[in-house]
Amino acid sequence: PHLLNATFYTSAHERWDLPKHSGIEIAFSGRSNAGKSSVINTLTNRNHLAFVSKTPGRTQLINFFQLASNQFLVDLPGYGYAKVPEHVRQHWKSLLSNYLQTRTSLRGLILVMDIRHPLKPHDIQMLDWFSSTGKVIHILLTKADKLSKMRANITLQKVALFLKEFYPQCSVQLFSSITNIGVDDAMTVITEWLRI
Ligand code: GDP
Repeated sequence: PHLLNATFYTSAHERWDLPKHSGIEIAFSGRSNAGKSSVINTLTNRNHLAFVSKTPGRTQLINFFQLASNQFLVDLPGYGYAKVPEHVRQHWKSLLSNYLQTRTSLRGLILVMDIRHPLKPHDIQMLDWFSSTGKVIHILLTKADKLSKMRANITLQKVALFLKEFYPQCSVQLFSSITNIGVDDAMTVITEWLRI
């Protein structure tokens, strides 16, 4: 499985730093501290590929990881951290919305949500920006190990019902970087998206 071949490619802080559109990109997004870096590290089987931060909101860069000559995973800056200064927030907002709405090489979006706090206003904002492109979105309800199996499944059903009504191009599953719940399923989705 070639997700295991990921290597760091480049970082972009500004729109004009982005590598030229080419090949296929799968982007990862989520609120600060949702568990996005852990998801990337788990899927690529690398402990430190994406930086797991003790300080939410620190990653301000768009990081590109290369899987194959024409395949990339893209780690978008975490959003929604309250202590971020307004000018930084505005910068992320324009960088993120622009990237999501105009990036032609972007194939799909993996949206990471802490299963205990799904579908917050900023998450809905991301869904709205990206679903306007008509491209696919897959939500990982991560930290599923924090809830009982029954409670995790109740949340999964609630989120799935909401998506079915308002964002039908969007799918959802449970995930945990601790117990590896859902890792195979997430791999299957991403591998499918990467297929030319
Ligand atoms: P990011 O800010 O979205 O990149 O989130 P991180 O991956 O840095 O994770 C934030 C915190 O949640 C860290 O303390 C992680 O150890 C923890 N965490 C991440 N994923 C999981 C998970 O699946 N289960 C549990 N129990 N903790 C997790």
